[in-house]
Amino acid sequence: MRRVRPSDPGWPSKAAWKRLDDAVGGNLTPVDFPINACTSSPDSADCKELFTNLKNPYYIGDSPGVTQTLGWVDAWATKPSAYAVAARNADDIAAAVNFARENNLRLVVKGGGHSYQGTSNAPDSLLIWTRRMHDVTVQTDFVPQGCRGVIAPQRAVTVGSGTIWLQAYDAVTTKAGAYVQGGGCTTVGVAGLIQSGGFGSFSKHYGMAAAGLLEAEVVTADGKVRVTNACTNPDLFWALKGGGGGTFAAVSKLTLRVRDLPEFAGGANFTVKAASDDAYRRLIRQFVGFYRDALFNDHWGEQAHVSPDNKLEISMVHVGLETEQSRKLWQPFLDWLKQSSAYTIESEPVIGSMPFRHWWDVDWRKEHHHDVFKADSRSGANPMNVWWNGDGGQVGWVVWGFESLWMPASLLQDDLQEKLANALFAASRLSEVELHFNKGLAGAPSEAVEAAKDTAMNPAVCDAFALAIIADGQGPAYPGISGHEPDVAKGRRAAEAVHRSMNELRAVAGEGGAYVSESNFFESDFQHAYWGKNSSRLAEIKKKYDPEGLFFVHNGIGSEQWSRDGFSKL
Ligand SMILES: Cc1cc2nc3c(=O)[nH]c(=O)nc-3n(C[C@H](O)[C@H](O)[C@H](O)COP(=O)(O)OP(=O)(O)OC[C@H]3O[C@@H](n4cnc5c(N)ncnc54)[C@H](O)[C@@H]3O)c2cc1C
Repeated sequence: MRRVRPSDPGWPSKAAWKRLDDAVGGNLTPVDFPINACTSSPDSADCKELFTNLKNPYYIGDSPGVTQTLGWVDAWATKPSAYAVAARNADDIAAAVNFARENNLRLVVKGGGHSYQGTSNAPDSLLIWTRRMHDVTVQTDFVPQGCRGVIAPQRAVTVGSGTIWLQAYDAVTTKAGAYVQGGGCTTVGVAGLIQSGGFGSFSKHYGMAAAGLLEAEVVTADGKVRVTNACTNPDLFWALKGGGGGTFAAVSKLTLRVRDLPEFAGGANFTVKAASDDAYRRLIRQFVGFYRDALFNDHWGEQAHVSPDNKLEISMVHVGLETEQSRKLWQPFLDWLKQSSAYTIESEPVIGSMPFRHWWDVDWRKEHHHDVFKADSRSGANPMNVWWNGDGGQVGWVVWGFESLWMPASLLQDDLQEKLANALFAASRLSEVELHFNKGLAGAPSEAVEAAKDTAMNPAVCDAFALAIIADGQGPAYPGISGHEPDVAKGRRAAEAVHRSMNELRAVAGEGGAYVSESNFFESDFQHAYWGKNSSRLAEIKKKYDPEGLFFVHNGIGSEQWSRDGFSKL
């Protein structure tokens, strides 16, 4: 079986496309490829402006023809679909699903467009584009459909599947003073993140984002609009919680658990440089012990980086501590640093707390001179269009290499800390290693761990103190555009360094698995790496709801039955 492309005789006629357009209220459009502005004149003002815009996640998000990650050297480069349905609701999505199935088209779904693996773009396809479906409603006593008497009414937020996390946080935290577990990056899509499991800065306390899913409205491959939750279509509901985006159905709406908001959240940020390799090794060893004793609990998440230039960068966040409490915690480590001239604190430690309610509050941050966000500079842009400074480097990113690995908490035991520290040091000789503490649930409350076990994610997440990420890449670039080409030679060297660096960690951590959303495009045993023992159950659910494989993504469940582009059945 082979899906059709525009050049094939089986491609739908103009009249057929017109019927689809009518069915979706005139919201079918041929997809423009913004990069065409550069193809014949890479030095033109239009091309320059485009490459400026490709550093703005809102410009990218508003353009159906490009994606937040622009490509991956030797893997993929973003390409536009032939047509897009700018869906308004589940009925529009159903019309697109039916049309794709009946006409043997390659179908693709895009929300926030952040997939590193390029799973939300495919040339010659029909795109379901959910960007405009971003209604957000906070409810006080939500009961999943069919669950009355089984699940007590609770606070919840229902979002359209094109919602990005900042829109959800604005409604739930800034406006309603409550909490919903989502992602760290403000511009990531809710639907993409939930289907991949999803972690935010505070996941060490609240757990995986997918574990907070209460209900999803979806369109399955047969074109039916279905409600899924713990009581109705529970198998499909479970698969949506971490089984991978774009694989089981097209999601139109999600309802997520809402919780009380603690009074304070905060962070610790600073960078230390060691004067020699030996001093750096001792620094890593000290930090590992300090992490285990002071920070390995549900208050502390986000990251520590160890790098080839002998710097330790701390950019961690906490929840539920006051300024004095958080400073007191870090003091022994800061005192240890001060005892030796081998360590220079390059940026003065910023450690403290703020009212949690204002974490995502753009106006409050501005008023208090917290320079943490970049803003959409297009004229007339919504002032709410912001993204964390720390995520800026990844807008329009071209990946060179990217791998992740869950690091078992057993490595924090007294007798293994030295081994862990040595592995981190060895890995850091090759590439920068990021430890994302909030993406491993060891140290989280038991409720969060239990909820994670009821998702499709690799259970290794529950025993890990952190997800190690080693990645490298460059800013906006596109193959064939003179002056803006990806640096392929450098990219290949970086990918090799990333791989060898991660092997140093694998030598002590084993093959603990990788996070589907943040992992290697070339992951060989991806079913095991992403889902562990859950992959066979996911394969059964895929067969039940999408037996013909209408929904295809690279390294998704069932993808092994298709060619790499998803056009030919093997
Ligand atoms: C800069 C950056 C920061 C990130 N930060 C975090 C983080 O803090 N925590 C974390 O856990 N992850 C993070 N990620 C990874 C991110 O969560 C995943 O890439 C996620 O899948 C992106 O979702 P999206 O909707 O933005 O992307 P998309 O590329 O639109 O979608 C991702 C996948 O989900 C599918 N999908 C999207 N919408 C639907 C829908 N309505 N129905 C069915 N399938 C759909 C797509 O087909 C695609 O396969 C980050 C990624 C980037 C690029």
